[in-house]
Amino acid sequence: MPDLLDAVDALTLVEHEHIAQKSDDGRWLKAHTVTHPSLLQRMADAVTPSTGRDNASKSSAATRSPVDADALFEYAKMSAAIKSWCLMVKVAPDRDPAVGLRKWYVARLAQPGEDDAWYTRQLTSWANIIRNHLNPPQSFTIKAPCPICRTEGYGNAIDGGDTWPIEVRYRMQDERVTDEIARCRVCGGTWHGHDAIEELADELSQISGKIEAAPNPVVEHQEGPNPPDRLNRLEGCDAV
Ligand SMILES: [Zn+2]
Repeated sequence: MPDLLDAVDALTLVEHEHIAQKSDDGRWLKAHTVTHPSLLQRMADAVTPSTGRDNASKSSAATRSPVDADALFEYAKMSAAIKSWCLMVKVAPDRDPAVGLRKWYVARLAQPGEDDAWYTRQLTSWANIIRNHLNPPQSFTIKAPCPICRTEGYGNAIDGGDTWPIEVRYRMQDERVTDEIARCRVCGGTWHGHDAIEELADELSQISGKIEAAPNPVVEHQEGPNPPDRLNRLEGCDAV
């Protein structure tokens, strides 16, 4: 669990991203560093594209998510909450929520409360909401029963669902897969991270060894591009 300052920093400090490049023949070239505006600033840019205070702090149109009502609403809630927190510690709110949040934190240091954990959870969830808006997760459904609860279907044709129970979500970052998580929507069984997903793929291919090979494609893509190589083993799983 991050502490309160970590959670404040995650939202308000610029982020440095190290990008290593490979040449065409596979050699690593020198890494370079890209600086991104803070998460709160990027959310502000995403919902109000003209708010960048100068060219350097604006994200380019290509990297900016399209304005959407959800993001706008979430950002408005964050800004409003920060303003009211500032008033509670008798600090004048700032037009810029990132500045306001840091002023609030400094004032709060002088009068620590017992509910730092609550604020930390709140701020951490905001960071997750913003990351999800800036780089939405990709997902697909594994066409195989859950190895824990053995459920084969989820939902029904009338109420929706009518699909296999395990959903895999992941995020692409510089052509790398990150944040992989597989979750059974029936029993809640969760496989978190690369190693756990590999184990799941192993388990499913063992099950499939006992069953006649299936003619159908196994993975149903719900959105986004094809999952990259690391997830292809699940695509090859033919436990159906
Ligand atoms: Zn299950």
